[in-house]
Amino acid sequence: MPIDPTQPYDDSNIFAKILREEIPSQKVYEDEWAYAFHDINPQASVHILVIPKGRYVSWDDFSEKASAEEIAGFVRAVGHVARDKGLVVRGYRAMANVGRNGGQEVPHLHVHIFGGQPLGPMIVGA
Ligand code: 5GP
Repeated sequence: MPIDPTQPYDDSNIFAKILREEIPSQKVYEDEWAYAFHDINPQASVHILVIPKGRYVSWDDFSEKASAEEIAGFVRAVGHVARDKGLVVRGYRAMANVGRNGGQEVPHLHVHIFGGQPLGPMIVGA
């Protein structure tokens, strides 16, 4: 079910539980600003999710309300994970879904990193 990105942050969302270590995840990277882990249902041979440690519903919420430090820390973490996984030379895709049209299902900002194979068109059917 797509989420409504205009709703307030809900601390019971699954990624909040992952951050609190209430449910397990396969950790890839962690720093002061971000946590990265393998997607439970990978859509490419590499499929990693990077989430900010702060309470942000979506890319929209984050880009409006996060501090410059949080934004810099998070963006750098996404880049670091991709470099660390050796994805840069062959290329990769970084993507954040927002709301219903974007198909966002978890109301905590996450950037998907896809790689390890040719990724095809950006939008299926386009
Ligand atoms: P969205 O559609 O919101 O952009 O992406 C949500 C992603 O979270 C999906 O790719 C889905 O497979 C992943 N996901 C949902 N629940 C869990 C979970 O409990 N653990 C992990 N590692 N990934 C999850």
